[in-house]
Amino acid sequence: MYIMESNTDGTFSDGALVPFGTVQINPHSSVLNYGQGLFEGMKAYRRPDGEVQLFRPEENALRMQMGADRLLLAAPSVEQYVDAVKQVVRTNKRWVPPHGKGTLYIRPLLFGSGSVMGISPAPQSTFLIYANPICNVYKGRTAALSLWVHDKLPRAYPGGTGGVKSISNYAPVFQVVKEAKEKGFSDVLFLDAAEHKYVEEVSSCNFFIVKRNVITTTPATGTILPGITRKSIIELARDLGYKVEERKIPVKELLKAYEVFCTGTATGIAEVYSVSYKDKRVKFQTGPDTVTQKLYDLITGIQTGLKEDKKGWVVKID
Ligand SMILES: *Cc1c(COP(=O)(O)O)cnc(C)c1O
Repeated sequence: MYIMESNTDGTFSDGALVPFGTVQINPHSSVLNYGQGLFEGMKAYRRPDGEVQLFRPEENALRMQMGADRLLLAAPSVEQYVDAVKQVVRTNKRWVPPHGKGTLYIRPLLFGSGSVMGISPAPQSTFLIYANPICNVYKGRTAALSLWVHDKLPRAYPGGTGGVKSISNYAPVFQVVKEAKEKGFSDVLFLDAAEHKYVEEVSSCNFFIVKRNVITTTPATGTILPGITRKSIIELARDLGYKVEERKIPVKELLKAYEVFCTGTATGIAEVYSVSYKDKRVKFQTGPDTVTQKLYDLITGIQTGLKEDKKGWVVKID
């Protein structure tokens, strides 16, 4: 793993690779007391030729900087971030699974590690990256998601931290996600906090609906996490000639969609088989002849090196 601590002036230097293991943390640290922390999620992919590559790592670096601004943390520069991720992947190269079998999942963390007594930001932050191999989370049709719309408990609210990958956004939804899983659903689909009327996103992935040649997704205006997979899919879908709209999606409209899918680094593109809202359960098209499948093949192809990267999104590890 990689670890680097900020200097007193908020800059970072002297990061280093160290063996994976326990970290020492001050009981006074702001991350333990006040949840002043961020995370990122990335993957290293094995190409068919055996080489290893990352997908848009600068985007994760920029998103961590945005989150750091929101939570008053010192953040590494984009160059420092990407360089550190590359070092972690290079040194763990043998743990990147073979092409098509899985990926090396990379977890960068940034947290307030300096000692604080009052409720205030940390004087120091720590940037840490660890990684571990994972198999493909969802494989084709059998893994299509069934989502449960939660119409009372929102995930994020206007003015809150839903738009950044703050560690504080995740534990508050453990309870409803557990409830959903106990009822047999794959995950929870959250609605907006103000009106409980518009679809926002799932607990860890973004949300899209498809109707004819129009693809619609919730706008990233602070209450959803602006996913890099989401942003890439919007661009790729437009290139393929689909009309892509970023606007509020009323639940009623979602229930009339032809296809529904979710996007995120961990899940990739996951097709949604059914959505349950109040006492209704609506099913959607899934399988090989869908728009979802076309987009899945394209983005997965670019990420894993099966398809040519015409966008300059891929960064190879030398
Ligand atoms: C990380 C995350 C996503 C997906 O973002 P990607 O950059 O595509 O991985 C979507 N929603 C939430 C809540 C997330 O935490």
